[in-house]
Amino acid sequence: MTVRPHGEATRTKPDKTTLLFAAVLPLLSVLDVLIFSSVNLGALGVRVLWAVELVACAFWMGRLSGWRRRLFFLVNSALGSGFYLAIVACTGDVDSPYVHLVMCLPLLVALIYAEEAGAAIVSGCVCMLGIGALVVLTGHPPAQAITWASLVAMTSFFGVAGSTQFRRALEARNEARLERTRREAAEKFARTLADQALSERLATVGRLAASVMHEINNPLAFVHANLRFLQEELHAQPLTPGARAELEQVLAETRSGVERVQRIVLDLKGFSRRDTEESTACALADVVADAVRLAAVRLKHMAHVKVELPPGLPPVLATPRRLVQVLLNLLVNAGDALEESGRVPGQILVRGEARGQRVMLFVEDNGPGFPPEVLPRLFETFFTTKGPEKGTGLGLVISRELLEHCGATLTAENREEGGARLRIEWPAHGQTSRDGAASV
Ligand code: ADP
Repeated sequence: MTVRPHGEATRTKPDKTTLLFAAVLPLLSVLDVLIFSSVNLGALGVRVLWAVELVACAFWMGRLSGWRRRLFFLVNSALGSGFYLAIVACTGDVDSPYVHLVMCLPLLVALIYAEEAGAAIVSGCVCMLGIGALVVLTGHPPAQAITWASLVAMTSFFGVAGSTQFRRALEARNEARLERTRREAAEKFARTLADQALSERLATVGRLAASVMHEINNPLAFVHANLRFLQEELHAQPLTPGARAELEQVLAETRSGVERVQRIVLDLKGFSRRDTEESTACALADVVADAVRLAAVRLKHMAHVKVELPPGLPPVLATPRRLVQVLLNLLVNAGDALEESGRVPGQILVRGEARGQRVMLFVEDNGPGFPPEVLPRLFETFFTTKGPEKGTGLGLVISRELLEHCGATLTAENREEGGARLRIEWPAHGQTSRDGAASV
């Protein structure tokens, strides 16, 4: 139950037009004076009663809704028509100067209560019965009553048709307005999500900054020292064969240092860039084929790559270019692990699976797997077991981040039969993980 503060009942403002009409009604008795040269007390009494009823309506109208409001319109149109017929009866029955308006009354009611077509029908019925009774009771032929009733029926029909059309137009306009509002809200929401995803990624880059400085500082320091050494050596002429060999070694070290910095910067650049491509429903077969083709050069002498994707595998929501980047990283990692362990040529299996509405993609190898001390640290920034010339320790972190961006997850485990298994999983259609994306 809603508790309202004291005095704050469901008060709404009275309807001004109804109040104005109620105020004017008794004044219309001036017309009686002009027509009959005297005040018609009966008609004045009816007008005052009608005005009182209208004042009550003006205050009630805003408080009602639903079926009560509809009933209110119906009762009110019946009462209004009845009051008007009473004025006609007081001012000369069928000979009253006001009788002609009886025909148009349902039409007027339809205009006033346009949102409720039934009001014109009720008014039409009251007017037909009323005018028919007046005609018959005042001794006129029944044919005249039928003529009057037919005319009233006709205006009622037009009134109902008009108000129905008006209501439909109103509903269509409201629906269009609602649809526009809904669409705008959805667009705004999508924009907010995209901005949020970008700022989240930028925040991660920000958090990475300190570690990046540390990682880059080391190679930069020896690159700098090496360059100075090279400069000094080049000035000391002539170069002995021993010095030349040393210079070449120093140059190679320097180049690997620069390449390492370059790799870190490239990884981070790809990560922080705003996705211009939207996530779309993409077929895993295409993405996997692209990644395997790109990895082939690196894996040529290291592994046989096998792809097993069941034919009915549903498409997943992803940015294809990003997903290729992730898979490429996983394939190259598997190749590196096989190479390092000396188990070449090894086996790499890319396997797809649908469980219910969830879609999974596994990259498995028969390499050494993850040692127990490595497994919990795999998704740590800059964690790598490779030499500085090979690994940056950013691959898995960035892959996980990219996948989360399109609603998927990345996990790692050891296979029971040996080797590593990386699992990408898209949730069931309609379930979202982070920023509203899901598998389709
Ligand atoms: P990087 O490849 O630069 O080292 P990653 O984040 O891609 O960075 O990988 C982190 C570490 O995870 C690797 O250094 C490696 O020790 C381990 N790793 C990744 N994939 C595999 C795999 N298939 N088998 C064994 N170890 C792996």
